[in-house]
Amino acid sequence: MAQLQWFPGHMAKARREMSERVKWVDIIIELVYARAPYSSKNPMIDEIANNKPRLVVLTKSDMADEERTKEWVEYYQSLGYEAMDVNLKRFKEYNRIINQCRRVLKDKMLKEQQRGMKPRAIRALVVGIPNVGKSTFINALASKKVAVTGNKPGVTKAQQLIRVAKDFELFDTPGVLWPKFEEERIARNIAFLGSIKQTILPLDDLFIEAMKYLNVHYPKLLEDRYQLSFDLESDWILSVFEHIAKVRAIKKIRGETDYDRVIEIFFNDIFDGSIGRLSWED
Ligand code: GDP
Repeated sequence: MAQLQWFPGHMAKARREMSERVKWVDIIIELVYARAPYSSKNPMIDEIANNKPRLVVLTKSDMADEERTKEWVEYYQSLGYEAMDVNLKRFKEYNRIINQCRRVLKDKMLKEQQRGMKPRAIRALVVGIPNVGKSTFINALASKKVAVTGNKPGVTKAQQLIRVAKDFELFDTPGVLWPKFEEERIARNIAFLGSIKQTILPLDDLFIEAMKYLNVHYPKLLEDRYQLSFDLESDWILSVFEHIAKVRAIKKIRGETDYDRVIEIFFNDIFDGSIGRLSWED
């Protein structure tokens, strides 16, 4: 994909920064989007994790297909990860994440104390591709309890740890990972999540692929939102555009259907969840 030539440079820098921070933490909290927990999980973490425990958190579970989410959580658990799903719009769910980290690290912290080290807070790093909820998570915790723990050697000013509970500290800026684009399917899924500028992939292609997928997996959502049903065997594309334009009363431009506006409205419905709960991966 020629458009993505900027990617290796960004990735190398992100990897360097992340490896540096990983040294300071006890656990990596890896946020992935519940609507596509495979595509939004960056394999780069494997290379920089440095054997630190990892908690995979499937975010925005309120926007995803419940059944699929459950299967994905079980899948990651079966691979040996700690895994859970959350709705970050509910602050009370944040404690589940912190408690899970405490459980994972209980033995390590105990051992440290048995070896005579002073009790200390768990340190965590939050990472993920854009739009998975990293800042929502960190900011909500930080605004509850901002208590900067002061400089630690090797941790730059821009990367402070904040204490969010008596025994829990987070880096105050998340690790932003660039998505993996090796496969077109993955790039597309990430575009469906709103995590990359959609201009990277042709919008009309994305629209067609999303429609095809929804028609097979979630026909009821199309029916409910746009009173739309169509047969993939037929020449459906133009009629789908026309139909949505009509249902949503999209103004014509010089007598022609405004295809761009149809696409825009459709993806807004996808991104803000008004289309309903769905997952892009089986
Ligand atoms: P970041 O790019 O990873 O830092 O993502 P943000 O924290 O900026 O979140 C992106 C958008 O998703 C924001 O509009 C959040 O309000 C929203 N968001 C984050 N977590 C959730 C969630 O669990 N459920 C829903 N419905 N929206 C969420």
